[in-house]
Amino acid sequence: ASAKAVQAQQAAEQAAAALTAEVLEREVGRRRNFAIISHPDAGKTTMTEKLLLYGGAIHEAGEVKARRSSRSATSDWMELEKQRGISITSTALTFDYNGCQLNLLDTPGHQDFSEDTYRTLAAADNAVLLVDGAKGIEPQTRKLFAVARLRGLPVFTFVNKMDRPALNGFEIVEQLEKEFGLQSFPVNWPIGSGDRFVGVYHRPSKKVVLYEKRGQAGRSKGATKAEYDLDDPDLKDLIETDLWEQLQEDVELLEVLGDELDLEGVMAGKVTPVFFGSAMNNFGVELFLQTFIQLASKPAGPAQTRSGVAVSPSSPNFTGLVFKLQANMDPKHRDKVAFVRVVSGKFEKGMKVRVARTGRTVTLAAPQRMFANERQTVQEGFAGDVIGLTNPGAFAIGDTLVTGPTLAFPPIPTFSPELFAYLRCPPNQKKPFLKGVEGLLGEGAVQVLYNTDDYITDPVLAAVGQLQFEVVQYRMKDEYGVDTTLEPLSYTVARWVKGGWAVLEGVGRLFNTTVMKDVYGRPVLLFRNDFALQQVLGEHADKLGELSPYALP
Ligand code: GDP
Repeated sequence: ASAKAVQAQQAAEQAAAALTAEVLEREVGRRRNFAIISHPDAGKTTMTEKLLLYGGAIHEAGEVKARRSSRSATSDWMELEKQRGISITSTALTFDYNGCQLNLLDTPGHQDFSEDTYRTLAAADNAVLLVDGAKGIEPQTRKLFAVARLRGLPVFTFVNKMDRPALNGFEIVEQLEKEFGLQSFPVNWPIGSGDRFVGVYHRPSKKVVLYEKRGQAGRSKGATKAEYDLDDPDLKDLIETDLWEQLQEDVELLEVLGDELDLEGVMAGKVTPVFFGSAMNNFGVELFLQTFIQLASKPAGPAQTRSGVAVSPSSPNFTGLVFKLQANMDPKHRDKVAFVRVVSGKFEKGMKVRVARTGRTVTLAAPQRMFANERQTVQEGFAGDVIGLTNPGAFAIGDTLVTGPTLAFPPIPTFSPELFAYLRCPPNQKKPFLKGVEGLLGEGAVQVLYNTDDYITDPVLAAVGQLQFEVVQYRMKDEYGVDTTLEPLSYTVARWVKGGWAVLEGVGRLFNTTVMKDVYGRPVLLFRNDFALQQVLGEHADKLGELSPYALP
């Protein structure tokens, strides 16, 4: 009888394992995780709103902004946000569409963006490049695109504001090729622009979809669509002759760009599907969403661990990557939220995980996520999901969380700082000052460098955005009670010397170069501008060896 019991037990376990595998496959398969990269004002907030609208997560456009401001009004930490009229917090929004679960990682779009913006991209599987049709590719898009490229993310391009006078579609296609080396595959193509924007030609279905102007379409998603074949005689009556002729011509020209989508090219980040529309007028967003869920990469996460082991998103053991720490999101608790991207397995509320770095076991008791900008408690999660955890002190950026064998994902790269300043404090506040610097450094709020002369002990803050300085000063005062002053330095370029001090000594004196050290004591070269760097390279490239714009892990 006991042999039978063992057999039954084994059968039950096998059945459970099979079921788990099936659930994992299914859940991972329906997830799409992405970040929008754009220049401020291109329409990211509007686009987000419309995506949530289609996902049924909100019911009226305008809610995202309304909630955002009501939330920041109640939070003193958000005071800074409010003063500046920007969003410092960057999290993930979750919504469903046609059976898929979409996780939109929200990257702050203000020009004072910070390293968090980059880190968020490190947790994304796809990038949506949002371009203002009138302006084309803008500076901040370039910076963010470089990170997406570094990670080889598939890129989907949405050209927005077609209801305003816009560049010719072919000009945009050319910019993508020239600036980013991206080959375009237009999925739809605009017919006119500005006041004469009448709709798009949808290439896969070979249909012309006419756009209904705002007054008729209203704010809800229920805008009716009129579809026509390209050679439908009615179409000729509906749109002006020159637009009609232009369309016929464009369609022929588009054939040159190929009529087969190279999916492998998309996955490799070499070919970008391109869409045109107007987020504000709710036109083209759903066409985008429909194609996006078909083509976007499923959760991939870090492909390998540091030791080169591949981790499958649907493997049964839970693993997660801490990619961002956010302090004091909730003013009632001085808490810190660690944002974790699930890389594999199933996340469950209350589960115990090990932090690979420290070996500590932590219970994940109050996991949260943002559903259409509202905090919710998470019961379970799968690869591609982003979960907020409030376990102060347990986590650092780049930590790997595991349930099975210990493994660690590659560190999240730090990003090349472009702004530098001494941070100083009154002599009698040295102690809390040092504690504060250490705390903020540990959270990754800012990078810190030190003078090579040991008697100059004030830290040099190194940041990618001005906002990071303001956050540091604000929190120094608010959390550590220290009044700091900032003394800006006029460097804009930093390079880490891979060969270390030995190499640097071999080179001798470098003109127009300041040498500092990072928190690990490694040499960093600072230059006023790229010209100064190029001069030094011109003279000493061979002896200096490899220089890195990033701190080495
Ligand atoms: P963000 O800074 O990228 O988040 O941009 P917003 O979504 O806040 O949009 C910036 C401005 O552009 C706002 O005034 C929007 O109403 C406007 N906008 C967004 N999408 C469109 C569009 O499709 N057409 C037009 N004409 N304006 C738009």
